[in-house]
Amino acid sequence: MSLFDSPFFQDAYAQLESAGGIMKMDPNVLERLKYPKRALQVSVPVRLDDGTVKVFEGYRVQHNMTLGPGKGGIRFHPHVSLSETAALAMLMTFKNSLVGLPLGGAKGGIKVDPNDLSRAELQAMTRRYTTEIAMIIGPDKDIPAPDIGTDGQTMAWMMDTYSQLNGYAIPGVVTGKPIAVGGSLGRAESTGKGLAYCVNFAYAHLGKQITSSTTVAIHGFGKVGIPAANDLYAQGAKIVAVSDYTGGIYDKKGLNIHSVVEWVKQNRVLKGYPEADAITNEELLALDVDVLAPAAIDGVITKDNMKNVKARMIAEGANGPLTKEAVEYLTAKGVFIIPDILCNAGGVVVSYFEWVQGLQAFFWDLDTINKKLHDILKLAFDRVVDTQRKHNCNMKQAAFIASLDRLQGAMRLRGMWPG
Ligand code: NAD
Repeated sequence: MSLFDSPFFQDAYAQLESAGGIMKMDPNVLERLKYPKRALQVSVPVRLDDGTVKVFEGYRVQHNMTLGPGKGGIRFHPHVSLSETAALAMLMTFKNSLVGLPLGGAKGGIKVDPNDLSRAELQAMTRRYTTEIAMIIGPDKDIPAPDIGTDGQTMAWMMDTYSQLNGYAIPGVVTGKPIAVGGSLGRAESTGKGLAYCVNFAYAHLGKQITSSTTVAIHGFGKVGIPAANDLYAQGAKIVAVSDYTGGIYDKKGLNIHSVVEWVKQNRVLKGYPEADAITNEELLALDVDVLAPAAIDGVITKDNMKNVKARMIAEGANGPLTKEAVEYLTAKGVFIIPDILCNAGGVVVSYFEWVQGLQAFFWDLDTINKKLHDILKLAFDRVVDTQRKHNCNMKQAAFIASLDRLQGAMRLRGMWPG
């Protein structure tokens, strides 16, 4: 098993090299950024409900901690691997730097399908995993958050386990917690809200406005896709299609998002939703829409299907949904791409607010949180667009360059030990 095993890591690495080349980055800094600082692999034994013991494979990878403690989600998914986790940790470094947070990049996960486990098994697995990575996480070291397959309940179990190990409540060890145990208002919706803000910035940048004829398709209807759909729907956009791992639903007149969300609350999945036509995920990605938001997993638009894409704007809600090749091809075709490290940064920004509020034990109102989120993302969006113009590169390269510029400055100032 190596870092380079996954196409996702190879792609993130290639994007880094490409941006580093354009900005003529210090090769010594670039060399250091190609590798994670630290990667921990753990075995997570769990006694299943039938009395047998099963061991799951877990990871926590810290890519770079120059700007501050590590920050990044915990993923429970069958595809989790060292290589995928390292790629995601690398993207977190660049995301946190791009939006100006005093945080480094990290990511963790367990190779498991959480749908296969009972609640008791899930809790036991989460607690044992937390114990196994406890030596490298903490409010001053590395602060996990939810990602695919994890949620506020997972974070509450992690916070409780870490607190039990230390003998007192330590809410700052994770973010994305439920409000009752020190979570922040607005955190649950923040990634999707940030995506919707970015689509608005992009529309304004192109001299356009979102209207009732703006059509949107959203791939992935989870913690990112649902709030993004809610916000764009509230603004009057026509959400013509949404999908999850069971497939998609389509209505050319526009879906009633409230009714779809209610269906998913009752049935967990979109499959069977009665008031729209069924479509496949591949069909959704190929719809002729104004905005396509891939908000599920990485590697969904690649050289194999990029030529089918008809959307005019792509808002990368997921981490790495477009490969480097797809970004280049679609940019050349005139598609406006809002890169992942900008488009889905809303989650980590409000996680940062949660961490700060927790450390101060002083909590802010929702308007303050959303206003600060909006302003941070607007600043980052403007920096990316300015960088894109300056280097005449694509938006993905621009986002990486804007991020690497700040990170490189900090890495040079701190230097390397031993020199
Ligand atoms: P989630 O588990 O809440 O939702 C994922 C959604 O994608 C679900 O609807 C699932 O059914 C669907 N999905 C999974 N595999 C699919 C497939 N092969 N085809 C179509 N749909 C599929 O996860 P999430 O937190 O919404 O995360 C989604 C993406 O956004 C991930 O790439 C994650 O890393 C990224 N992200 C999440 C956050 C956050 O705050 N949750 C922040 C930044 C980035």
